[in-house]
This record gives sequence, structure tokens and C-alpha cells, in this order.
Amino acid sequence: MLLEVRDIHVHYGKIAALKGISLDVADGEIVALIGANGAGKSTTLKTISGLRPLSGGQIVFDGQDISKLAGHKRVRLGIGQAPEGRGIFPGMTVQENLLMGAYARKGSVSRELATVYELFPRLAERKSQYGGTMSGGEQQMLTIGRALMTNPKVLLLDEPSMGLAPMLVAQIFEIIKEINSRGTTVLLVEQNAHQALQLAHRAYVLETGRIFKSAAASELLHDPEVRAAYLGGDLGVS
Ligand code: ATP
Repeated sequence: MLLEVRDIHVHYGKIAALKGISLDVADGEIVALIGANGAGKSTTLKTISGLRPLSGGQIVFDGQDISKLAGHKRVRLGIGQAPEGRGIFPGMTVQENLLMGAYARKGSVSRELATVYELFPRLAERKSQYGGTMSGGEQQMLTIGRALMTNPKVLLLDEPSMGLAPMLVAQIFEIIKEINSRGTTVLLVEQNAHQALQLAHRAYVLETGRIFKSAAASELLHDPEVRAAYLGGDLGVS
């Protein structure tokens, strides 16, 4: 198992956001986390990348207990995160933003840069444009591209489809599929449950800080409870 999350508990002050989440991600998989607003999806990703401390439980990555490891050291081990809300540097060019993503790496990053430009030709076209002047979809691409600059073993994606037009959502999901087929494992948080379940191999459904259900994504797409709660009844599934 590449990533093992074991019974993690996370608090914001006195509020328990995660109340014992356990999940596994195998090498090569795309795993989705779905669930309502506030269920704890983003917190789970932030805890794996080291942005939130654990108040209980354990995270094991590539056989190593990383529960107490600083975030930048987790990046070096191969955990790459594309945060929610983009978080690019608006006053830097596209290329400078990408190079910032590689700050934790030693040595040349020309191969990573070439890969990102191959996956996102739009970023190559716009490499000298300021990040802040890119469209919402382009900024989303930049966020994912920046996370790829560390050549991660697992890519953590927080709501990559947020605020994007349907055509662009389809495009971003295609690119995620391509990133995965080139060997990067993906753990994806999505509001857009229907698209996420079509892309992922497996998924976990979160409800108020706990895992409510987990199964093969194709199974969850046809699960009556999941359909009623997250896929808009019968309307969501083709
Ligand atoms: P969404 O889909 O709305 O982003 P989510 O499933 O990602 O939701 P989280 O953002 O992980 O949910 O939030 C889990 C719980 O923790 C929520 O009750 C939320 O209000 C709380 N929470 C998140 N961030 C903070 C914070 N910085 N301070 C206090 N409470 C927080």
C-alpha cells in the first residue's frame, strides 16, 4: 500500500473535524473522497500533506510513519498537493509559479517542466503571462502543474473542478486520467461526485468526519443511498 491512513482524528480547536478516518491508496490507483460540505474531505488531504496536525491515529506513506513529519519533508518523500482555491502567486509568471513548485527539489527540473508543458499546452503558450491574469481554468491547471513539479508518487487534488465550466471540467478530468496513466497515484477530493466516480477506481464517502461507505467507484455509482444523497437521485447516472 502506498498510503495508509489509520484512524486519524483532527480537531480545529475543540471541534472534531475528523473522527477516526481510515483509508488506503494503492500504488497506481485513483481514489476519490466524496461527501457533503463540511464532511472533512479537505481536512483529510491537508492532514496527509502535513498542513494540519493529528490529534490521534497514524499516516504511513511508502512504508514510513509520516504522522509527525513536517510538510516539506513529505513533499520530498513524494506527496504533492494541489490545494483548493488555487493559491497561485498572482505577481509571478506561469513559469515562475511552476518553478516555485519545485523549490523542495534538488537539481534540474527541466524534465518535470517539459512534462507539465506537455500535459498542459495552454501553460506552455502562456508561460510568460502573470499567474493572476490567467482564467479560472488556467489557474486550476497551473495549480496541478505546480504540484507535479515535485514529481510526486501521489498527487492530492482538492476540488480540481471547482468553479469551472462543464467542458473544462471534462478536460481537467481527462488530464488527471493521463497523469495517472503515466504512473502517478491520485487521491482526489470532489464535490462533483458523478464525475469523480467515473474517473476513480475506488472511492470513500465521508459524512461528518467519518467514513460512511467505501467501494469500487463503479459500485458506488449504482448504490441507491449514494445516488439519492450525492448524485441527484436517478438524474446523475447515465
Ligand atoms: P467542503 O466540501 O465544503 O470543502 P470538506 O468536506 O472539505 O467540505 P472540511 O473543509 O474538511 O470539509 O471541514 C470539515 C469540518 O471542519 C467542517 O465542520 C468545517 O467547518 C471545519 N473546519 C475546517 N477548517 C476549519 C478551520 N480553519 N477552523 C475551524 N473549523 C474548520
